[in-house]
Amino acid sequence: MSAPRLEIDLGRLQHNAITLVKRLARQGISISGVSKAVLGLPEIVRIWLAAGVSSIGDSRLETIEAMVGAGITAPLLLIRTPMLSQVERVVTHATTSCNSEPVVIRALAAAALRQGRRHGVLLMVELGDLREGILPPDLEAIAELTLGLPSLQLMGIGSNLGCQHGVAADADNMAELSALANALEARFGISLELISGGNSANLAWLEQSGAPGRINHLRLGEALLLGREPLGRTAIPGLHTDAFKLVGELIEVKTKPTRPWGRQGLTSFSNENSRQPPLRADRGLRQRGLLALGIQDVDPAGLEPPPGVSIVGASSDHLVLEADHPLTVGEELGFSPNYGALLRAMTSPFVQRRCIDGEAKTPRGAAAATAQASRPGRTARGDHKLNDPKRAEVIRINHGFI
Ligand SMILES: *Cc1c(COP(=O)(O)O)cnc(C)c1O
Repeated sequence: MSAPRLEIDLGRLQHNAITLVKRLARQGISISGVSKAVLGLPEIVRIWLAAGVSSIGDSRLETIEAMVGAGITAPLLLIRTPMLSQVERVVTHATTSCNSEPVVIRALAAAALRQGRRHGVLLMVELGDLREGILPPDLEAIAELTLGLPSLQLMGIGSNLGCQHGVAADADNMAELSALANALEARFGISLELISGGNSANLAWLEQSGAPGRINHLRLGEALLLGREPLGRTAIPGLHTDAFKLVGELIEVKTKPTRPWGRQGLTSFSNENSRQPPLRADRGLRQRGLLALGIQDVDPAGLEPPPGVSIVGASSDHLVLEADHPLTVGEELGFSPNYGALLRAMTSPFVQRRCIDGEAKTPRGAAAATAQASRPGRTARGDHKLNDPKRAEVIRINHGFI
């Protein structure tokens, strides 16, 4: 089987989706499954929809168009404010888009009018993380503008926290979003369908508060895919944290000194502050393995190696490893990707995808989820159907739009 490849356990993803949909429904909250880290992979999106997510969100118009092309008919939410240059395509393919700029809102309205469509608008509000969003004092005017454009439908308001400065959703900022929703409804005599509190970083708040106020929608990526909440990277009880494994193949195994020799300069990947790669303590002769997987495939800093293996370096095409046990040329090793590493691996044209219809073993709460995450390299031979070729389906490199 060819490497590098991302092994995707659809059974575990299905379990995560069913669990989160049920859990949040108890608090009156629906979910948009955010597919950007998996480039809208139709196999995953279909599982999410069957599990009951109400729509699919993605930040890239190209991915939304690819999902439409793959026959996904669910409502599609563009979660990044549209580029002015793309409004025509946004209106054609996305049901609703997140917005914060009046000029874009007017352009969307004009495009929708030309196409004889009605486009949904979710107004994003800045609540302190300082990425996208309308400052609260300006919200009423932009809502009024949107309401005055008949080819647009004001679907609601939303916020995004945690992504820029790691600002957490808390009782204060979520109460502010609820209050803004109430104020808009009272001012214009309308009822907003979506009060979209945020992303996976909101789950901790939701669990602690137990009182979501007006929040009735979250946009979730990391929690569904990796079973973790982003602010502390903690495993969410009852979810699988190991649905993805990035597999690479060893191409060289030799015993070499720990320290390089010769005069040192910068490397291609040195940053300006580090004059040269830091030298490690001299541990004498050590077994080193070279894996055919590099920065062109993944963010190496976001990989957790299998037990007994450590990553000592990475360049465009190689991961340099040391291991406590003997390695063999041709051997495959599996790594657990974090969100950034997953996003990069999915985006690399060199990384194949292999979807596995694994059996979704029910994780036994937080402890079990953490224990599983700490043994990422253990191939699940025998404990699920990872290695059963009859059940595996190799998905070709990417899917058409790269
Ligand atoms: C990426 C993103 C999300 C999903 O974030 P997760 O942390 O993966 O849940 C939600 N909303 C917006 C606007 C995003 O950009």
